[in-house]
Amino acid sequence: MKPLNIAAFTAASLFILSACSGDPETSYDTGDAPEAETSAAFADVSDDRLNNAAATPAEWLGYGFDREETRHSPLTGISKDNVGELGVAWTYDLATSRGVESTPIVIDGVMYVTSAWSVVYALDAKTGEELWVYDPDVDRAVGVNACCDVVNRGVALYEGKLYLGVIDGRVEALDAKTGELIWSEVTVDQSKPYTITGAPRVVDGKVLIGNGGAELGVRGYLNALDAETGALIWRFYTVPSPDKQPDGAASDSAFETVGNITWGEEGAWKTDGGGGTVWDSIIYDEETNSVIFGVGNGSPWNQTLRDPSGLDNLFLSSIVAVDADSGEYKWHFQTTPGDNWDYTATQTLIIATLPLGENGADRRVVMQAPKNGYFYVLDAATGEFISGNNYVPVNWATGLDENGRPIEVPEARYAEIPFLQTPGPLGGHNWHPMAFNPDVGLAYIPAQEIPQAYATDPRFQDNSTKWNTGADFAAGVPQVVPSEVFRFLRSGLKGRLIAWDPVAQEARWTVEHDGPWNGGVLSTAAGIVFQGKLNGEFAAYDAATGDELWVRDVKSGAASGPGTYEIDGEQYVTITTGWGSAYLLSAGGVAAPQPVQPTVGKVVTFKVGADGTIPDVDIPLVEATPKADEFGTDDQLAVGLVQYARNCTVCHGPFAVGAGVLPDLRWSSYTSSADAWKGVVVDGNLQSIGMVSFADVLSEDEVEAIRAYVVQQAHNADGINDAIASESGGLQ
Ligand code: CA
Repeated sequence: MKPLNIAAFTAASLFILSACSGDPETSYDTGDAPEAETSAAFADVSDDRLNNAAATPAEWLGYGFDREETRHSPLTGISKDNVGELGVAWTYDLATSRGVESTPIVIDGVMYVTSAWSVVYALDAKTGEELWVYDPDVDRAVGVNACCDVVNRGVALYEGKLYLGVIDGRVEALDAKTGELIWSEVTVDQSKPYTITGAPRVVDGKVLIGNGGAELGVRGYLNALDAETGALIWRFYTVPSPDKQPDGAASDSAFETVGNITWGEEGAWKTDGGGGTVWDSIIYDEETNSVIFGVGNGSPWNQTLRDPSGLDNLFLSSIVAVDADSGEYKWHFQTTPGDNWDYTATQTLIIATLPLGENGADRRVVMQAPKNGYFYVLDAATGEFISGNNYVPVNWATGLDENGRPIEVPEARYAEIPFLQTPGPLGGHNWHPMAFNPDVGLAYIPAQEIPQAYATDPRFQDNSTKWNTGADFAAGVPQVVPSEVFRFLRSGLKGRLIAWDPVAQEARWTVEHDGPWNGGVLSTAAGIVFQGKLNGEFAAYDAATGDELWVRDVKSGAASGPGTYEIDGEQYVTITTGWGSAYLLSAGGVAAPQPVQPTVGKVVTFKVGADGTIPDVDIPLVEATPKADEFGTDDQLAVGLVQYARNCTVCHGPFAVGAGVLPDLRWSSYTSSADAWKGVVVDGNLQSIGMVSFADVLSEDEVEAIRAYVVQQAHNADGINDAIASESGGLQ
């Protein structure tokens, strides 16, 4: 196979809405917390209840519903017969236009939900009435450390307390009844670009939480903190220390026996931390008293820069099991040895019992559809590879060997020549929660196709604290007119809901969506699958056939994992929405011929027979300023295009087309003068809202070339608009 020279996909794969920082959001009055009271029985979530979540289906006790994180509710009040009568019971404004990824926890009639900047809301789950709000008051400057916006996926409840991971690396315990802070513990080296976006889990008095930051350069680990005090009980590092010496951590024996020998003696991993962040999936297997967690990508991505030895680099891109009491290593399975592509194995882990034992006997397994495109079924007790198959098209490997190791295509180990690869770094499946229905034996994967051209970044710097992956985001950026680019991009981006049979390792049915970045999945015992879509719709499908049963426009990005619960005999379905959660929501991303007004994130809750509305609440933050006059030589514009792709795309959108959350630079007043532009990009005049100086990576000539390119793109917008209008159906 030869490297494909199709260009464009570098930027295509970075249409993800936002990252970085900036805080263009309006503050809303969130009200005062009620007077503090203590109640020992309130939110009394015990290990026993968590281990038997299906026995109390009216509540949604943990991030993935149950310990197995199936997101399969036994509730059947909403049935195939009445799902068509679902209406809006209540909505609640989350006061942000940034990314919202939270799965609500519901217990004792109270919903606990998070929003951008790690703010927690306690709401009456029946009415949406606000009970209290807790804002950890994050310094907005830390937003620059967030690879993928200042999101939060939810909280944990345990014995009357609520546990929160804060974007700046704090972990905090609140009184679940009052929202009062009980303890706060900094769990990362805050001089490094760590973030926490994931939901904690609590097992036997230990709060389990990892962190993120592998795009910027950190060393990953999983912490177990004392639920009463926040004190560290054990830590499992996923990457050895730079000198391969023991850390005095639970992971020491694992590195001594299996980990250290998979790392070379040279490379950027020694200064950049090596990556391997545990930023999402953490589950507990009661049968073996194991904590099983997913490990992220290498830092930097590019293995020739990270570790030129080419060894496997454990425990990057691995599923790891440790003893819940001690954190001692039990087993691992590495999905992508020697990760080179941001192929995290942090995606949803689900434990299930499948007929995969001898003669079809039951076997307890763990399942995952990680970024690399393959669906894995492993033995939950031993990690033994049982089976795997690709759930989306894959061109970086030709299959898996008998041990589940991918058989790589040599060109995927890219260098200067770009290799157009699928999946790209956003993966065949990202953070959007997968679900599993044991009645029909199907896993529901929010899948996508977002290829990317990978090439070695010639300007890679050791020990940078900005995006620093060693993969060139200008690889394959085309020198063609924007309308062609956009047409090409759109044709290559796909999203679908796949009902995957993990025994046969094949799709049973598939629902195609308009584009990628579709939402998390909820399954119910009524045989219904709920999922948000790219275009802001929230839909219900028949679990067995994929037939659409119901759909509703929720007027914003619907990417989060939906939840369900029951109060007074009525079943509710709920989802958190957010403008910054969508991937090119409607026309706001790909084309945006004019500024699009963001909407306010919400909790939207449905029940049968309700007839509420979803109010339009826009945040007027994008002002169209007059376009600056075009300027710049061809050479200057070419430099601007490349430098924009390398430095600006991740936050401000490819080709200077705003991705939604952060300002669309084409309409920025700062483009009007070289001095104003330099003041921001070089001098850091907007540092307080998260736009840091790029003086360390860009020359002043390059900064001005980027301005020329952005202005050119502002003028090109009219042409883009015309191109889109000429296509049938327009842009959805
Ligand atoms: Ca990553």
